[in-house]
Amino acid sequence: MTKVSISTCHICIEELEYNPNKIQKKCCSTKAFICNECWDKLKENEIKVCPLCKENIQVKQEIKVKKDISCNLRINSTICKTITILVAFEFLGFCVLNLIVYGLHSKNTTFKKEMNYLYLKPIFLISCFMTGVLSYYLSIFLACVIYDSFKNCYHKLKLRISTS
Ligand SMILES: [Zn+2]
Ligand SMILES: [Zn+2]
Repeated sequence: MTKVSISTCHICIEELEYNPNKIQKKCCSTKAFICNECWDKLKENEIKVCPLCKENIQVKQEIKVKKDISCNLRINSTICKTITILVAFEFLGFCVLNLIVYGLHSKNTTFKKEMNYLYLKPIFLISCFMTGVLSYYLSIFLACVIYDSFKNCYHKLKLRISTS
């Protein structure tokens, strides 16, 4: 059910029926009614403030549009980032699983046969993702361990040089 109000427009001085939710004028009180037609004419004539409350009308609307756009962009970029990360994990896991099957498949089957069988299984996609996540963190862990032992070696070497 649409809500209908009756008011006299402050510009064209006509008594009009209108749906308050569809009125373009958002500033000042609803009692200070200006019909949409007159409001459009104000904007067409590049009047920048409301004739009743003097609030800046155009800037306010432009800022709102800009805010909406930047909000949409932010949401889009978050979705893009998430999708990229998911795809990257999936791809990494896919490569690792291929390598594992290539290295470990039994002698009475071929790598191709084994993979053709696996590709059709939905669980393969999930395993790819899990393997991707696992190998990502495992490789970071390994890199840290290698870096640490390398640093230790370097310090020992430096100590030996300085004491000798
Ligand atoms: Zn009017
Ligand atoms: Zn106003």
